[in-house]
Parts: sequence; C-alpha cells; structure tokens
Amino acid sequence: MDYFSTRGAAERVSSAAAILRGLAADGGLFVPAAFPQVSRADIEALVPLSYEERAVRILRLYLTDYTEAELTGCVQRAYGHTFDDARRAPLRAVGGLSVLELWHGPTSAFKDMALQLLPQLMSAARGKMGEQETVLILVATSGDTGKAALAGFADAPGIQMMVFYPDGGVSPVQRLQMATQEGANVKVVAVRGNFDDAQRGVKEIFSDAATAKTLAAAHTRLSSANSINWGRLAPQIVYYFSAYADLLAEGAVRCGDAVNYAVPTGNFGNILAGFYAKRMGLPVGRLVCASNANNVLTDFLQSGVYDRRRAFYQTISPSMDILVSSNLERLLYHLTEDTRQVAAWMRSLAEKGVYDASGLLPQLREHFWAAFADDAATREEIRSVYERTKYTLDPHTAVAYSAAERYRKETGDARPTAVLSTASPYKFAASVLSALGAAVDADPFAQMAHLRELSGMEIPQGLAGLRAQPVRHTDVCERDEMRAVVLDFAGCAH
Ligand SMILES: *Cc1c(COP(=O)(O)O)cnc(C)c1O
Repeated sequence: MDYFSTRGAAERVSSAAAILRGLAADGGLFVPAAFPQVSRADIEALVPLSYEERAVRILRLYLTDYTEAELTGCVQRAYGHTFDDARRAPLRAVGGLSVLELWHGPTSAFKDMALQLLPQLMSAARGKMGEQETVLILVATSGDTGKAALAGFADAPGIQMMVFYPDGGVSPVQRLQMATQEGANVKVVAVRGNFDDAQRGVKEIFSDAATAKTLAAAHTRLSSANSINWGRLAPQIVYYFSAYADLLAEGAVRCGDAVNYAVPTGNFGNILAGFYAKRMGLPVGRLVCASNANNVLTDFLQSGVYDRRRAFYQTISPSMDILVSSNLERLLYHLTEDTRQVAAWMRSLAEKGVYDASGLLPQLREHFWAAFADDAATREEIRSVYERTKYTLDPHTAVAYSAAERYRKETGDARPTAVLSTASPYKFAASVLSALGAAVDADPFAQMAHLRELSGMEIPQGLAGLRAQPVRHTDVCERDEMRAVVLDFAGCAH
C-alpha cells in the first residue's frame, strides 16, 4: 500500500516512510492509496480472536511493508503488558447503549491505544528504512498527549523524546504523571507561559534550519508524534472492528447489521478512524460527532462551512478544546479525491480562518451526524447516567453519550450504538465529583478515593501509584530557552 499527500505532491511513499516522516513535504497529510476491503467472513473471523490478533488482521492491510511477524511483535509490546484489562478495549452495556472503554492503557486515556503502538511502528520503520540517525520527538502538550507519548516512547530504541508543558497550566495529576516518567531517553520540561507559548516554541524549533543543521551534526533528526501521523490513525481503526466483533459475540447484532458509533471529537482523529473502518466494509450506520462548547465541527457537519473565527472556551472536557481539527483534511480528500481543492480549502483556512465545502453536505450527512454539549449539559449527563445506571462517565465520554441519546431521539434510529469512552473518570475526578453533587477535596488522591466510593470502579494503577513515585523531572525554562534545552538534551554544543 502506497501513501501520498492530501495536497497533491506527486511523491508516493511506503507506510514505514509515512510513519517516520509524520507530515508530507508539501504540508499535507499522508493518506493510503486505497481502502483495503474486509468481507463479512473476515469480520466474523475476528470474533474468537484476542485484541492483539484482531489488530494484526486489520493493520496488515495498511502496513503492507511490515511483515506479519514484525506487526505481531509491535502489537504484543504495545498492548501485551501495559493494559489493565485482558480485553484491552472492553465493551460495556450502559443504559441501552454500549460504552467502548478505550482507557485501560497506562495513562488512562484513549491516546494510549495509538501512542503505545506508534513508537513500536517507528522503531521497526527505522530498521526497514535503514535509518541511522537518532529520531528526536518533540511534543508540546496541554496534558493528556504528553504523558501518553512519554509512556509509549520510554526506552524505544533509536528514539529520544522531549515534552514541554505550560508551567502551572496542567492539572496536578497530569503534572505528576509527566514528572515521574521513567526512561533514559525522555525528558520533561515546564515552560514559563501558557500552552500556546510552549506550542509556538516547539513549532519554531521545527522550522529553524540552523537547529536542524546542528542536530544533523549530532546524527539526530526531529520528528513529531501528533495525531496527524498515519501511525496514530491506523491503530484506531482496529477498535471499531473489535467492538463490532464483540457485539457479534454477544448476539447483539448479526453480521451485516449496521452499528452507530458516537465519538467525543477534538482533532477528528478518532472519528476519522471510524470512517476508514466504514469504507473498508465494516457495517457502520452513522458516526455521531460529539463536541463541547467549542462546536466548530457541529456547525461544519450541519452547514458545510468550517469557520474557526469564534470564541475559544476552556471546558471540563479539555482534550476537545480545539478550533482547528487537523485530521478533517483527510476526510475532505477522501470525499473529493481532489488534492487541488483540499489545498485551496486549507489555504483559505490558514489565511481567512474559514472555508466553504457546502458542496459536500449530502456526503457529510450520509456518514455523520453532529451535536454538542456545553459544560452544564455535560454535568447533567454525568449525573443522569449515574442515577439511572450507577456507571460513571468522564466528561469527554459524557459529551458523546449525550450526543448519542439526542441522535436516537431526533432521528428515531434505534440501531445498536457504541459510545467511545476516551478517558477514565479518575483522570477528571474533580469535575466528575462536582457533577455528581459530591464534595471536592483539594487533594487529588482524596478525590480519587471519594470517587471510588461512589463509582465502585478500581482506581487505575497508573494513577493510584503516582503518589509513591519519585519525581524525576523538575526543570523549568523560559520560552526563548527551549531551543537550547533541546540541543543540550541531544548532546549538541551551541
Ligand atoms: C484526544 C482526546 C479526545 C479527542 O480525540 P481526537 O482524535 O482529537 O478527536 C477526546 N477525549 C479525550 C479524553 C482525549 O484525550
């Protein structure tokens, strides 16, 4: 399978090259040249398999330059020992819907599903491409992505990683999760400023030719692990199939019956993987795109006009506080197969903050349905689902649960619906406790203990164990020192 850019550069590359590079040379995103097809028999054959085996069956269709043995090794190392549920992504019946729990990995958020596997795919890709240079991954994070990337990349051969986060700009638990990270090849630094300062600092380092030259002299090359990397999208396709196989196993559907999926959406990576699954032949009805008060995608899917010129809200579902959903570019390409049109829309977005793709509305409506929930509606959903079912939703999942219920009510579509659950409620214990009307202790570990009494769920090891772990990363730097910090870490004189 070859990959090429959404913006029209002629070059075609292998999956290993697409994963190592992240972004195409013209600024576009790598897309596969075709959607490999999966038959009903193939889907039924997934039922008795483990999650890891299912993953190999799906991934080998896209990552055709990896051998089956390589993929098996990557998948085993990614999911084998680090997840706290033997099913990896278990499906749970909650109040008439199915909740697909994607947070049983080491950092208790859905990012682990991809970020446990990406480093394995990158290390294998280095070997295949004969890459001699060390790959240095830089990440600016407002919380979740940083820890998930650190946990995935710690001790990955041939790879180093640095994470920058805003000093005082992440939750106490998120800070501890990052500051206690082990691994000789990783470093975490707080930046004095907000998330935008950290992000801008990283972008400047990426685009600075002098830095690249200095690093090259030390046999080091920069790369990124953000959600536009093909190696993050491909692993997410797997759990759409896996959930369907579990519904088959339960007898909730017969093979061929359509299932809807409701997805709490930010950068459009998770839900886009569902679109890929559908185009491969998985019987998917509608993909319900759920947003918080930052509802730019709700408007886009209803009007065909993408307009980022609006207020930005900080919400209780912070991983969805996004105004530019980068992975949407891949959807635009697949619906038009017109790279020149995609490039023009992206130019319009960069220059004017808006583009008009209303010609795509019939197609958008065929595959997607969209709704949003603000913080008040999200809290109300957490409370009402808890009262009805005793199941505790995190705020991101509650946004999707609410959209799924609205979808059913407004369209009358009663087909089985899976709600993708993207974080453990323990990651956002204060918001969840307050939504349930409970007292919120100042100490995050007391919050977790209190939530345990209410939810009856085990506190994930990765969170409960934080209190006892030594803090290993305490560096703080100014924004204009970030470049020097990176060069020091890479062992460069400067
Ligand atoms: C990243 C994230 C999302 C959004 O996923 P996208 O792929 O960016 O749409 C939703 N919920 C949680 C908890 C996340 O960490």
